[in-house]
Amino acid sequence: MVSQKQVKKQTREALNGMFGHASDYRKVMAILAVLMIIVSGFTLWNTMELRRAMDARTQIYVGDVTLQLTDEIDFRLKKNVIDLEMLEDSLLHVDNITEESLHDFLDRKADLLGYTAIALIRSDGNIYTTQPIPGDLSSMSGIQASFSGENGVSFLNEQSILYSIPIMRDGKVAGVLAGMRNRENMQQLIRTESFSGRGLTCIIDPEGQVIISPTNVDPFMVLDDIFLEESNDETVENILQMRDDMKNHRSGVFTFTAVDGTSLVLAYNPLQNYNWVLLTLVPADIISAQTDLYLSQTFTIIAGTILLFFIILTVLFHTYRNHFRLMERLAFTDRLTGAMNNAAFQLQCRQLLDKSAPGKYTVVLLNIRNFKLINASYGSVRGDETLRHVMNVLLAHIQDGELAARADADNFFLCLKGCDPEEIRRRLQKMVDAVNSFDPAEDGPSYLTLQQGAYVVDEPHLDITIVQDRAKTACRGYSALPGSQCVFYDEAVTKRLQKEQTLNHLFDRSLADGDFKLFLQPKVRLHTGTVCGAEALVRWEHPQRGMIFPSDFIPLFEKNGRICQLDLYIFEETCKTIRRWIDEGKPLFPVSVNLSRQHFQSDSPLDSFYEIAQRYQIPSGTIEMELTESIFFDDQGIENVKAQIRRMHEMGFLCSLDDFGSGYSSLGLLMEFDVDVVKLDRRFFLHDSNPKARKVVASVIQLCRDIGTQVVAEGIETPQQLSFLEEMGCDMVQGYLYSKPLPVTEFEKWQKDFSSSPNRGIRV
Ligand code: C2E
Ligand code: MG
Ligand code: MG
Repeated sequence: MVSQKQVKKQTREALNGMFGHASDYRKVMAILAVLMIIVSGFTLWNTMELRRAMDARTQIYVGDVTLQLTDEIDFRLKKNVIDLEMLEDSLLHVDNITEESLHDFLDRKADLLGYTAIALIRSDGNIYTTQPIPGDLSSMSGIQASFSGENGVSFLNEQSILYSIPIMRDGKVAGVLAGMRNRENMQQLIRTESFSGRGLTCIIDPEGQVIISPTNVDPFMVLDDIFLEESNDETVENILQMRDDMKNHRSGVFTFTAVDGTSLVLAYNPLQNYNWVLLTLVPADIISAQTDLYLSQTFTIIAGTILLFFIILTVLFHTYRNHFRLMERLAFTDRLTGAMNNAAFQLQCRQLLDKSAPGKYTVVLLNIRNFKLINASYGSVRGDETLRHVMNVLLAHIQDGELAARADADNFFLCLKGCDPEEIRRRLQKMVDAVNSFDPAEDGPSYLTLQQGAYVVDEPHLDITIVQDRAKTACRGYSALPGSQCVFYDEAVTKRLQKEQTLNHLFDRSLADGDFKLFLQPKVRLHTGTVCGAEALVRWEHPQRGMIFPSDFIPLFEKNGRICQLDLYIFEETCKTIRRWIDEGKPLFPVSVNLSRQHFQSDSPLDSFYEIAQRYQIPSGTIEMELTESIFFDDQGIENVKAQIRRMHEMGFLCSLDDFGSGYSSLGLLMEFDVDVVKLDRRFFLHDSNPKARKVVASVIQLCRDIGTQVVAEGIETPQQLSFLEEMGCDMVQGYLYSKPLPVTEFEKWQKDFSSSPNRGIRV
């Protein structure tokens, strides 16, 4: 058998054709994923660009703000100098001032100008201070600078700063005027509020010494660490640039990342006084903090959307895949048996045939005969079980590389290797035997007949439905008779079926038009040489097609059930004739009518016949019903046949066993069934010269005599056959020797002639 893997693969391919390729969906997923990655990448890049722009903006902002601060500090420092210069000027104009009034004057000025103390250091070493100033004033660097003619500044302790200017007299330094200010003042100034309190500012000298810093100098310590440890090329470059700028009194601003990962902006602005530099350190997110928040929110939303999108896509894909698998199951599996269905069979058969030479495979159709009856009699559950049973048997009997499927209802298709009809038939028979190999005691007598039609695929390129149609066509030609064998498709079968189809179409019209005619063939009693009966035989006299014989249409109508209608028609025609004979006062004899076994499919097959016989008031014993021996081996059940024979007798009909010896004749039949007449098939007399055949006939006739059954010899054509039968003591004879079946009027004429003929009408 084709492997499960292959089945799945082919199934998938077919479904892909119908519903789109699974990999298409994967491609779409992949494209969407790539798109999403691109969108994410772009968003990230955009964010970084925005961040960079924000950093640049921050630098500009910090630069602007620190420039203002620098101006302010410069102004303050300048103001210190101006204040001292104005004071010095005042002193110049208050000559000859007393010690006391100088003290008062300077004290007042110190208060006014916000100095803690003012000192006047004369070049002769005389020092005057409004308040004590700690340390040796003369040795202070700022005082010394002022004595050199420059403005100076000295740091007295942690708390105070001493600003000093030279007192010039006649172009020479005559002394130094110094004012002490609380350091806190300066710290207050640089403790800027400009950056929402997040910025730090300090003043350093050109050597990098911190001159004034806010109380907390930690960030600058960190800054020191960064400068020491910095390995980032850009930052190192910025630091070098900064040193260079500071030397050359240039401002600058740059961003760097602190050790703790925070991004900081450092601005440096040279002050005009004392060569000092104002350093400002601001967290880089001072401006972008809000934007960063929005950006991170936006980023989270985008990431969330992408994630959601992925989840939805994954769910959709899974749903699609499950849906696809369900479709796969529904499309290619037979729900009832779990085996492959017709779609899968067609697909795989196509593949097998594509690769094969003509005659390599045979496609077989198996159909359960009268499956409807199983459903009707035992219920659909039992019917389903039967289908599963058949399917299992077929699957168990196929070989590797062969196929078995249930196409629909009770139709099963096989694709078997080989083309030898005998071999195929042998294998099919094995399957049929296996199907019927259940225990009859347990399962009931439900023997199944599998109608078989096969097509040796000699044209592998044909459309698979045509291949199957050919097997179907062959199956239609399967005979209903027991022991029938698989029919192989050929031209003759097609022709025959076409002919049958035509006849089928003509049936209804012909029945209505009375084209079916009653013919009678006489039976002669040997002992008396008189006509003792007749057999009613149908002839189809079609106005266009001429005479059609029963062998051309009886098997066809047996297959499609129309025979029952036809039998009733001929039965009624027979009854009409007998009625007329009665009415005309003619002598009566039993007329036998053939009853198809199809009647026995129904529960009360005889009711309609009885009703007709009653209608024509046919006397009891005037009609004989011929049952072919095959009925006794058929699937009707022995008990049913026995019961029907009993009913026949109750209704006043005689019963004969037709064609005895044509098939599976068994002498046991004669004992088992209560028949009135046995009709020996003409086959018995074809070899009447054979001593063995003669003995068999003699024994059968003797047996019938012994059990009180009348014997009719059918198909007697020669006087030799006749004299042999006379010798054997046969009761009646029917055959061409006396007459062929004749239309009723001709029969009546023949009968008249026969009765008056000296040689009893025997054609010698
Ligand atoms: P059967 O019932 O065995 O009928 C006897 C057949 O043998 C008839 O063929 C008859 O014409 C033929 N026959 C009679 N004498 C001779 C003879 O000496 N030599 C040869 N070679 N043949 C002889 P027919 O009429 O063609 O009928 C064939 C079969 O068709 C019948 O076989 C019967 O089974 C069936 N049949 C005919 N009419 C009816 C009918 O109305 N209903 C049903 N159900 N079957 C019918
Ligand atoms: Mg007959
Ligand atoms: Mg017969």
